[in-house]
Amino acid sequence: MVFENIKQNLDKVTKFYRLDNKEKELLLKYKAIHRAELVVGNKTYKAWRVQHNDALGPTKGGIRFHPNVSEDEVKALAFWMSLKTSLVGLPYGGAKGGVKVNPKELDDTQLEELSRSYVRAFHKVLGQDKDIPAPDVYTNQRIMAWMLDEYEKIKSRHEPGMITGKPIELGGCTLRSDATSRGGKIILDSFLEQVKKENPKLEKDKIRIVIQGFGNAGMNIAKMLYDDAYKIIAVSDSKGGVIDERGLDVEKLINIKHKTGSVINYKDAKIITNKELLELETDFLILAALENQITKQNADNVKASYILELANGPVTSEADDILSEKGIIVIPDILANSGGVIVSYCEWLQNRTGQAFEVEYLNNILKNKITEAFKKVYSLYKSEPTMNMRISAYIIAIKRILTAEKYRGNI
Ligand code: NAD
Repeated sequence: MVFENIKQNLDKVTKFYRLDNKEKELLLKYKAIHRAELVVGNKTYKAWRVQHNDALGPTKGGIRFHPNVSEDEVKALAFWMSLKTSLVGLPYGGAKGGVKVNPKELDDTQLEELSRSYVRAFHKVLGQDKDIPAPDVYTNQRIMAWMLDEYEKIKSRHEPGMITGKPIELGGCTLRSDATSRGGKIILDSFLEQVKKENPKLEKDKIRIVIQGFGNAGMNIAKMLYDDAYKIIAVSDSKGGVIDERGLDVEKLINIKHKTGSVINYKDAKIITNKELLELETDFLILAALENQITKQNADNVKASYILELANGPVTSEADDILSEKGIIVIPDILANSGGVIVSYCEWLQNRTGQAFEVEYLNNILKNKITEAFKKVYSLYKSEPTMNMRISAYIIAIKRILTAEKYRGNI
């Protein structure tokens, strides 16, 4: 159970940071859990919008379309959003949405109907000052556009700030489509700078990188790292993976993914399973697919030196302990993938003020906010020998939420 991880991690936090029962209860409390059944043709799909904590501002979080979506998963993702927005200093709380559907089985008309019916079901609890969705797994800017259009039709007014990750023509932001990966790359570079202080021999072109997941997050970071002379030795998607120890040609890989739908059709490399990919010997393992990929079942077989979590919740709490014992450092999701929500914040600011920010300005905000969060997390982590980076990030995020709750008189 994904939500079980959260409870386990909060218990770990209490070893380093005093949380009384009332504070812990408040952190585990949900503002609202909204449920609906969406009808498309003769089929019905379960849907959720879960709002966790809004002490710091309106709640924010993506909408996922995936056959394995469950209430437990959406709750966990909403909780992580509260921590993430808090960690990087945004004026937001956390939320998440999901529909239990395999969107690959829907045609365009059905996908549009599903997206619009999601908004018809939840429009009362959404809004630029209430709760602001964005894309997540198997949702994209086209779906955000349908959702915005449906919302504005219902409300009879324009309100582009009610959703982020939109096409630029509808108020979207130039940097949003690859912002998560941009942020992840900044974190990877910053982390490496620290590691190099202890191991100056680490050369960029010798650093081997393995990436699980080749969608928005995984593909874009692969391209950025490849362009910056890192060596990507293996990647995978839901159909399987490919490996070439000499380094994959990422541009070719992207073309093949676009043309054939999977990286396994890349001809010049060996095909491997996702299980094998997670257990490869590598410097960095970047997890950019789904949660619960490294668990107590396979953690002991992981041979990466460092793990960068671009996905949300890919390493369970039990696996964290096993990895720590093996000396494997995990750079946690709420820090590593926060680039997306930072640029979403810029998009929301744009929409509220009618401005269009320049790319350079957006890049600066992203870099400053994510680097500042990295420094705080890394320095707290280094100050306590038995603490891992996830617990350090949790403590910083939780402190800010609880301070806001105290000012509100809720604790
Ligand atoms: P996406 O739908 O664009 O891509 C998902 C990728 O994962 C696809 O390539 C898919 O084939 C692959 N995949 C699915 N199941 C797999 C499996 N079992 N093994 C290997 N690969 C598998 O989604 P995305 O937006 O890239 O999101 C990926 C992760 O990153 C999610 O956990 C999401 O919550 C997180 N995330 C994304 C963003 C963003 O801005 N896109 C922001 C923050 C966090």
